Amino acid sequence: MMVMNTSTAAVNRLIDRFGRVHNNLRISVTDRCNIRCVYCMPENVEFLPKQSLLSYEEIERFVRVAVTQGIDKIRLTGGEPLVRKDLPRLVEIIAKIPGIKDVGLTTNGILLAPMAKALWDAGLRRINISLDTLDPQRFLELTRRTGVEQVIEGIHAAKAAGFDPVKINAVAIKGVTEADVVPLAKFSREYGLELRFIEYMPLDAGDQWERGKVLFAAEILDLLSQGISPLLPDPKSDPRAPAQDYDYIDGGGRVGLIASVSRPFCMSCNRVRLTADGKLRNCLFALNETDIRDLIRGGSDDETLAKALRDSVADKWEGHEINTARFIKPDRLMHSIGG
Ligand code: SAM
Ligand code: SF4
Repeated sequence: MMVMNTSTAAVNRLIDRFGRVHNNLRISVTDRCNIRCVYCMPENVEFLPKQSLLSYEEIERFVRVAVTQGIDKIRLTGGEPLVRKDLPRLVEIIAKIPGIKDVGLTTNGILLAPMAKALWDAGLRRINISLDTLDPQRFLELTRRTGVEQVIEGIHAAKAAGFDPVKINAVAIKGVTEADVVPLAKFSREYGLELRFIEYMPLDAGDQWERGKVLFAAEILDLLSQGISPLLPDPKSDPRAPAQDYDYIDGGGRVGLIASVSRPFCMSCNRVRLTADGKLRNCLFALNETDIRDLIRGGSDDETLAKALRDSVADKWEGHEINTARFIKPDRLMHSIGG
């Protein structure tokens, strides 16, 4: 098998036909989860058998190849990544790969408190914790499980372990989470957390999504302005980044808005995704996938893997079409793609 020298800096760049440069790989490590958010997965779901998941060694191999093509940022996600056994070991493996500048994690935080320090020690430096409400009853409605107290403990443990900033992701759903916007913002201001609201996207189970259920970024800004303090766009916020940052004019920090529906940021997308079962997706909403696991397990050499990655990026479409009649919802739900 041909082995590439991955210790040298990447000379290639993953550029698609719209000129977008891709340096960001999101890796889902499991489709399993310890809660059941209504906007992400059904109550009853058949999970992937263990042997169909990429092993840590298979993930490492792909990341080493991806680095030679220009990937330098990794985010681990799922499902719930902390339910995968010994996740700090994977963090350590990836963080040590020459050329990787940044390893992040998106987690629901339930299992985080006892693991935060080990993750930090393994080399994790960015953490996003998902929390849509501080209210135990609404947490139960949204996640079909209890656990808000563990998430809050996880947030404090992440701060204590050294993560700075700790980012909080809150999905915003009209008619459901309006009452959570201001309490979450006050909580984040009190503890110095970076809160970001995400517009509800059509990747849920049971076709529950409809445009009328999206709590739009502009509406969230109104709620925050009325309930806390007026806000102004942060002049340092990158207009091409998914989150648009706003500063509270009372000096109490800032808040981010990820307006995936009302202000799609597809034209500045720099991401590709690898599912837990080793399928490469060039968009969250992609309808096609490239089977990396088959290539790895079939004995393909590194150049074949690299070409599969280049081809997938080259084939990327202009963007999702959520706001048009042409939109087709992918078969996979959010928990099995990796958000
Ligand atoms: N389990 C981890 C968590 O919840 O943070 C990681 C995986 S989860 C799929 C990644 C992110 O996607 C979470 O912040 C979650 O809130 C968000 N998400 C899931 N379904 C969504 C949807 N339909 N619309 C918008 N965001 C969604
Ligand atoms: Fe699990 Fe995250 Fe999906 Fe919620 S959003 S069900 S925590 S994978």
